[in-house]
Amino acid sequence: MTEERTLILVKPDGVATGHIGDVISRLERRRFTIEALKVVHATPEQLRKHYPQLVGRPFYPEVETYMLSGPIVAIIAAGTGIVEDFHKMAGVTKPQDAACGTIRGDYGRAWPDGSIRNVVHSSDSPETAENEIKIWFPEMQ
Ligand code: ADP
Repeated sequence: MTEERTLILVKPDGVATGHIGDVISRLERRRFTIEALKVVHATPEQLRKHYPQLVGRPFYPEVETYMLSGPIVAIIAAGTGIVEDFHKMAGVTKPQDAACGTIRGDYGRAWPDGSIRNVVHSSDSPETAENEIKIWFPEMQ
């Protein structure tokens, strides 16, 4: 395993319900390094770059509305195997299916409108992470 970086977003629901500190604590508890951290308001253009595989899907407008609904905290974190590790710490996409003890399993749940509000995003591969870091931290290039 090599040293790698991942891009984490505390999504608008995670910020609004007060889970920024917990996400940071979970990173620190596992001794991962926080390389950068900021509060951002996403733009539709940024989101289209971030979710290229979702843009054509019928639910994309809902994802866009959700991600524009409030501030986001963007984090670059680093450490050996962090992409896979943090993905496990986040849990699966639907909070109602996410294991207890994961971020999504602890702080998310199903809602009657069917929308998915799942607290955090994390990169799914080291290559994706580097692309996503460029989208959210353009000033660091
Ligand atoms: P993940 O965030 O677990 O990596 P995806 O990359 O598949 O999942 O999807 C990105 C985000 O788009 C999800 O976290 C969720 O916010 C939203 N999303 C995915 N699928 C759906 C869906 N069927 N309905 C509504 N929102 C969705």
